[in-house]
Amino acid sequence: MAAPIIVANWKMNKTVKEAVSFAKEFKALVRDAKAKIVICPPFTALYALCDELKGSNVSLGAQDMFFEEKGAFTGEVSGLMVKELCKYVIIGHSERRMYFKETNKLLNKKLKAALANDLIPIYCVGENLNEMQADKSKMVVEKQIKEGLKGIDAKKVIVAYEPIRAIGTGKTATADIAEEMHSFIKSFVGNVPVLYGGSVKPENVKELMKEKDIDGALVGGASLEAGSFGKIIEEA
Ligand code: PEP
Repeated sequence: MAAPIIVANWKMNKTVKEAVSFAKEFKALVRDAKAKIVICPPFTALYALCDELKGSNVSLGAQDMFFEEKGAFTGEVSGLMVKELCKYVIIGHSERRMYFKETNKLLNKKLKAALANDLIPIYCVGENLNEMQADKSKMVVEKQIKEGLKGIDAKKVIVAYEPIRAIGTGKTATADIAEEMHSFIKSFVGNVPVLYGGSVKPENVKELMKEKDIDGALVGGASLEAGSFGKIIEEA
């Protein structure tokens, strides 16, 4: 079995100083880990972490990027800039879809730009609570996959399935529900890594990782503290 891929999404948390102090402690904790480890800090901490994590087994990712390469796009950061510091980039996190109204069509452009810059995109999909209650989970995820990955070689992408009801709520999807969706996703994208995200913690990661089609985890809250994220890596 391939090593699990465990990704930290720090969202809008940690100053540069806090990020560096996390990295100092964390890289020592995971020195012998078998998992592929990726940390996605805010843009402001990428440069310092790139320096601090040099030579370690921890890779860096950005939390987003814009699809244009450069120009008059105030506030945006391009793939060309991201690739100087990172190997990975999260695209289409549910918070971007929800708060910044990012559509599958826009995300398709971002995914293409990420690949054109040799970045490995982590493309997030997942239904919200209403969609789940209306029994539309699979329909929503299928649309996100088909529209987001249109014209893209899916083999170059990592997918993260994050049921929105499970993000930051402590209500992880059960391993069998997650497994069913992961195998559904793979029926479209083939054998690419599909990560699970949504309240992953040291206590539940092992259970999730036992499933055949769960290839890793995208971790929000529990990745903010070196000890708890280190424990997730150990358990995975
Ligand atoms: C996330 O936002 O990607 C996430 C999975 O968050 P949490 O682990 O806090 O639910």
